[in-house]
Amino acid sequence: MVCAARKDANGRAINYLRVSVTDRCNLRCFYCTPVHGLNLIPHSEILSYEEILAVVEAGLHLGIRKVRVTGGEPLVRRGLTDFIEKLAGLCGISEVALTTNGVNLGQMAHQLKAAGLSRINVSLDSLERKPFASITGLDALDRVLEGISVAEQAGFAPIKINMVVIGGSNEDQVEAFARLTLDRPLEVRFIEFMPVGDKIAWSPGKVVSAAWITSRIEKQFGPLTALNERRPDDGPARRFAIAGAKGTLGFINAMSGHTCADCNRLRLTADGRIRPCLFSDLEFDVKTLLRQGAGQGEIVSLLEKAIAKKPASRTQAPCRRPMSTIGG
Ligand code: SAM
Repeated sequence: MVCAARKDANGRAINYLRVSVTDRCNLRCFYCTPVHGLNLIPHSEILSYEEILAVVEAGLHLGIRKVRVTGGEPLVRRGLTDFIEKLAGLCGISEVALTTNGVNLGQMAHQLKAAGLSRINVSLDSLERKPFASITGLDALDRVLEGISVAEQAGFAPIKINMVVIGGSNEDQVEAFARLTLDRPLEVRFIEFMPVGDKIAWSPGKVVSAAWITSRIEKQFGPLTALNERRPDDGPARRFAIAGAKGTLGFINAMSGHTCADCNRLRLTADGRIRPCLFSDLEFDVKTLLRQGAGQGEIVSLLEKAIAKKPASRTQAPCRRPMSTIGG
């Protein structure tokens, strides 16, 4: 079944669902973990894989074609490979992607490829052992780098490396990240730090703009070439390349640029809420519907409502929900 993507009130075709499969994570990144500690969702309140598949199947009727599995850390949830296989096997799904911190990727990359996973994004904020451990709370840089190599061997390409650039923390490493693209077909993406969830770690002064990062990289590697061709999986990223490099650079100007006009996504939280916008706490409770035994038509209607209410642009309303339950 392939349905045309449903358009929202602002003419954006919504064909992409990001699913947080758990709020559990094996890292404690200082900017992602709430300062008062994680308030974990009880297991019984987290959607089962069957419930998630029911939401995705309903989404297919509205033209959802791409699903990204995220978390928390998706690779810590048991049974993930079988779930990916079921997702990838749904008729009408063109792409199943994964966002991971890479810690368990080395052990799982080959199985994930065999299960039908199309793409992998690895979140990595430091290429130096000590800063990595201090940002994430775990001395696991080697495991992540190994995970990326195993994923390359398993045939994932291009692997995207997402670096959240945070002033006073890791902005001195942007050149080292850019260097990764010289001889590997990686796509390194620089993401501006966003005020999501517990904002204690966030302040305007810690947002490092794409313009600043570009000028640092150009100083070392020469002028960047803009890649104007837009691919379906580019999302809000603008892509560039260093002359002669095998890989590319992407910039997600979540703060300094306007990414809302291109937004084609809905989010499903680990505890079963549909969120039309990352930055707004407007949510639609699909879990209650599922657990009351609602039929597919009712779930489709709820998704239609969420699409209809998708904010035109980022609201000033606060986003209080921690990123770990939304999935980034
Ligand atoms: N555990 C997985 C991972 O590390 O990729 C998936 C979940 S994690 C919440 C998804 C992404 O959100 C990560 O790349 C993380 O760096 C990013 N993130 C978390 N808080 C953020 C913030 N305030 N601003 C920008 N990105 C953020």
